[in-house]
Amino acid sequence: MALFSFLDVGFTYRSLQAEMDAAYRAVMDSGYFIGGKALDQFEADYAEWCGARHCIGLGNGLEALVLPLRAKGIGPGDEVIVPANTFIATWLAVAQTGATVVPVDADPATMNIDLDLVEKAVTPRTKAIIPVHLYGAPVPSARLRALAEAHGLFILEDAAQAHGGMDENRKVGTLGHAAAFSFYPGKNLGAFGDGGALVTDDDDLAKAVRMLGNYGSQVKYYHELQGGNSRLDPLQAAFLSVKLKHLDAWTERRREIASVYDRALSGLADLRLPEVAAGTQPVWHLYVVRHPKREALQAALAALEVPTALHYPVPNHQSGAFKSEYGHLSMPVTEEICSTCLSLPMGPHLSIADGEEIAARVGQALRSL
Ligand SMILES: *Cc1c(COP(=O)(O)O)cnc(C)c1O
Repeated sequence: MALFSFLDVGFTYRSLQAEMDAAYRAVMDSGYFIGGKALDQFEADYAEWCGARHCIGLGNGLEALVLPLRAKGIGPGDEVIVPANTFIATWLAVAQTGATVVPVDADPATMNIDLDLVEKAVTPRTKAIIPVHLYGAPVPSARLRALAEAHGLFILEDAAQAHGGMDENRKVGTLGHAAAFSFYPGKNLGAFGDGGALVTDDDDLAKAVRMLGNYGSQVKYYHELQGGNSRLDPLQAAFLSVKLKHLDAWTERRREIASVYDRALSGLADLRLPEVAAGTQPVWHLYVVRHPKREALQAALAALEVPTALHYPVPNHQSGAFKSEYGHLSMPVTEEICSTCLSLPMGPHLSIADGEEIAARVGQALRSL
């Protein structure tokens, strides 16, 4: 058993048990297990918290990416720009619509999509771009919006890792035309099972996505579209409403730990720290450092009882899922990130003293290499 856990999903339940148990009982007593008041309430709470007009609860984060693309009519023959450096769901969402995935390499400082390269990747077939706020770090969006306006592109934020992140005082979820969120348990706002949501100001898109997630109907048994089934459980929605009230405090703790790491780890030989894009405020879903001897550093930290993880070990274009189509591509920055990245423990389950102790052990591990 490591001294610090990398992530502790149970922490949120233990710290809010009375409120969670009351939320559970309220849903059980309501008799609504699909839809109902608990879901309506969370959707209203989350839309307001993001500063958007609509929140539509969906089955998971992947569906929250797929359904708005479908609603926009994006499919075979269309191109969608995505970051090369992202969790595979971003790519899979585009592939599921039949559109062509157009990967763009990462900015070496922020590890997010390189905005200079985005501009060069736009063709007459480009229909959308999916900026991913990876590791909780918002992609600066003014340039993307200008590009989207010039070329008529749909901007769908992949905000699965970035609940509450800001760019120039606007919250993630309001930086493009729509945003996909995941409530997978390990995310900054996580349910106790799968969950996701689409957030948007666009009334027509909101209506279309809600229908696509509910068998293409607005009125039961009247099916206007060939939709599917992708709904957020009211029980999960009730838990999420409880957690949402505490999210800002949890984010604050993540920021404190990140600044402990920034301070204690800067200037250490060969260790590269994450850099924050000007004007943005990350929510530190992950704190990802890079080191040329990543495996040795990870082993040395494990020996010191500091668990770490890799986000992500294999670039999407070289993964089994995509290598036959994309394996020939060269994405040097993404490849470098995947071979050198190491995620340090991060989350509200850690105290600031824990963060200081972890940083000290990273220093110790580096000296032992
Ligand atoms: C988690 C995640 C998703 C998918 O969310 P699920 O709820 O697991 O389907 C999509 N994109 C990114 C960047 C993620 O981290």
